Amino acid sequence: MSLDLSKRVRPALVGFEPYDPAFTPCEVNLSANENTHELPVAVREAINAALVSTPLNRYPDPLSNELRDVLAERHGVQRSSVMVGNGGDEILFNLFFAFGGAGRTLVTCPPDFSEYANFATMCEMPVKRVWRNADDFSLDVDALVEASKDAAMVVVTSPNNPTGDLVDHAVIRRLLDETDALVLVDEAYVEFAPDGSSVIDWVAENPRLMVLRTLSKAFALAGLRCGYLVADPSIIDELSAIRQIYSVDVLAQATAVAAVKAREELRPVVSDIKAERERLSLRLGNITSLHQWPSEANFILVRIPHASQVRQRLRDEFSILVRDFSYAPGLADCLRITVGTREENDRLVEALTSLEKEEA
Ligand SMILES: *Cc1c(COP(=O)(O)O)cnc(C)c1O
Repeated sequence: MSLDLSKRVRPALVGFEPYDPAFTPCEVNLSANENTHELPVAVREAINAALVSTPLNRYPDPLSNELRDVLAERHGVQRSSVMVGNGGDEILFNLFFAFGGAGRTLVTCPPDFSEYANFATMCEMPVKRVWRNADDFSLDVDALVEASKDAAMVVVTSPNNPTGDLVDHAVIRRLLDETDALVLVDEAYVEFAPDGSSVIDWVAENPRLMVLRTLSKAFALAGLRCGYLVADPSIIDELSAIRQIYSVDVLAQATAVAAVKAREELRPVVSDIKAERERLSLRLGNITSLHQWPSEANFILVRIPHASQVRQRLRDEFSILVRDFSYAPGLADCLRITVGTREENDRLVEALTSLEKEEA
């Protein structure tokens, strides 16, 4: 007889299931918004040297101070304004753990990153959803500001995953001026957006503003698990006090230091992804049954008839993996396509074109 845990599990956690991105090994994987480009040799070598010279017998620096200094330098802030985590995901969880709980609401704007609502629920934080416009995914700004007035925290994602659009700075300004909530701006993809899209420079003047970044996307280090938050030192202190002390291991710290120091070498890669996004978008425009939304990130959201079936056929007949969102509220028949290398993008377009010919 198997053990019945239903009465033993913490009530807020009942019903959660292991995260399964439905990953199948494919020749072309455009499903997880990873950076699929090869790392420039200089970056690769800097990382290799850092890994080789890192001893494994000692515990990590629990505060990741060297890495915080490198990140602080990147953004022109003090170390005391930077917090590092085991991916942006850990920081999201810790934010809700620290500032959530019963009676402290999180406001989200779905369709957005599903982990916000999942982690908040785990932390017993009520979630108030201000749905985006069903057609163009624009924010309902007045409703968002209104909902955030008595909320503990509001999260906006810029560019948003999976819709690809930036949040107007004026919206963030209103959230700061007209509410008393902590305002989290998730900038996981901001390196792919035009210069000036980030609000990280606002943190110094706006102590309720928190900006989340990650090394998983532009920095091509999704496997490393390293993200960070730039926020007021009081927020960083609180998060530092409640975090899992060794969640960012020595290899992650050393690799991240090397990668962030070598960031100039990564610029051409990010530029190429942005150029490829425009080229991919143009080519997708020739597929008449496909609708796409403009994106400032390293992925494009599309709507295509029978999306789940298309995804399956891309996988099984063309060895191309994309992300199916058609199960998600507001995203019927939507697929999210990561912008890959030129070859990968061409393979995807050719596969979609041949599937469309068959339909005709
Ligand atoms: C990828 C992503 C993150 C952070 O990812 P990590 O790999 O945990 O650093 C945060 N927010 C959004 C919207 C993302 O897509």
